[in-house]
Amino acid sequence: QSTVVVAGAGQSGFQAAASLRDKGFPGRVVLVGDESGVPYQRPPLSKAYLTGVAGPEQLRLRPEDFFAEKDIELVCGRVTGIDRAGSAVLLDDGSSLGYDHLVLATGARNRELPVPGAELAGVLALRTREDADRLREELERAKDVVVIGGGFIGLEFAAHAGRPVTIVEAQDRLLARVASPEISGYFAELHEKSGHTVLLGVGVAALHGTGRVESVELTDGRRLPADLAVVAVGVLPETSLAEAAGLEVANGIVVDARLRTSDEKIFAIGDCANFPCVQAGTAATRLESVQNAVDQGRCVAAVIAGEELPYDSLPWFWTDQSGAKLQIAGILADADRTVLTGDRAAGKFSVLSFRDGVLIAVESVNQPPAHIAARRLFTARPRPSYVELEASGFDLKAHVK
Ligand code: FAD
Repeated sequence: QSTVVVAGAGQSGFQAAASLRDKGFPGRVVLVGDESGVPYQRPPLSKAYLTGVAGPEQLRLRPEDFFAEKDIELVCGRVTGIDRAGSAVLLDDGSSLGYDHLVLATGARNRELPVPGAELAGVLALRTREDADRLREELERAKDVVVIGGGFIGLEFAAHAGRPVTIVEAQDRLLARVASPEISGYFAELHEKSGHTVLLGVGVAALHGTGRVESVELTDGRRLPADLAVVAVGVLPETSLAEAAGLEVANGIVVDARLRTSDEKIFAIGDCANFPCVQAGTAATRLESVQNAVDQGRCVAAVIAGEELPYDSLPWFWTDQSGAKLQIAGILADADRTVLTGDRAAGKFSVLSFRDGVLIAVESVNQPPAHIAARRLFTARPRPSYVELEASGFDLKAHVK
């Protein structure tokens, strides 16, 4: 009987295990995760779970009995090494588990802030359920909250913190890595209208306090009072196991079109994987999204079950902040032209991004139909050109077959 071991029981690892059963995989499926409890989803941690609207039950990807029903062995523990020659993983309790296929689904870890004072009490980050629990507690007593980093997690935290906070972003715009300048500008306005202070183009030099953080010193010398500082400066792929095992690693664990690493028995999926993205012209890409984690989990299960199909899913993403639901379809890289459609003043609009005259990404704010149309357009090839879209007044729906 063949055994699949999945290392990491988050969004992608759970999906790989569940999809193996959906595909009728008859062998043993072992899901090893170092977090307690059943696998859970992270998006609510910076949204409904942070505000208390959702509880732990709503986080769970499936109830506990699902795993027994599907004959998925859930092992709580940390994988500490891979013995490639012996086709086994080593666990932190000293035991080992043999595999025929190993799926690395180890996710990412938060980037640390390399400044003095980062270790003070009251300086927290958000990745796990425990992190969210601590932040909820801290929010109840904190007076001055500073969010360091204006990416998705920092902004969602600000939007759901239930009080005005100061957001410090070193780049000259919010969401600089992931959104168009138009969207960055809109979200900066939105957060300011909600009472937050947005400081752009300035970094953090140090955190000060005796035992506990009392202020955040900026690189321009200003000091902001803070009894809670939330560090949200991005993540690093969790590649330590792969590196130690001698697998190819470059901004993530390098995999081929079928998500195989440089060892044919070992796959990598989700936040930790660097894959040739068909939708980005097969450029090496690492994505941090639920869509990517789920679709790669499904794909790896299909490959292991014998369907040698390449991974070619369309990247899409969403975020909820202060009444604005932003949905992104496609990959926004090196856009050379953008068009805004809809009603920005009413908070319902889309930004269409083009490269070399071809549509590459659509960011929609409170316009789910535009997002759905964009996803359908991107899935049907060839992609519409600027000229074609202009002829229809940039009505995406008019081009959906
Ligand atoms: P994870 O879900 O992080 O799972 C990896 C698991 O592996 C973790 O449990 C980790 O502890 C475990 N692990 C690591 N190393 C080992 C080891 N050696 N042994 C055993 N276990 C190990 N995406 C969206 O698309 N939309 C959103 O709105 C959104 N909101 C988010 C909000 C927050 C607060 C966060 C943190 C993320 C959010 N994301 C969102 C991103 C999304 O949750 C991730 O992209 C997704 O969880 C990635 O899945 P994964 O399986 O690769 O990693």
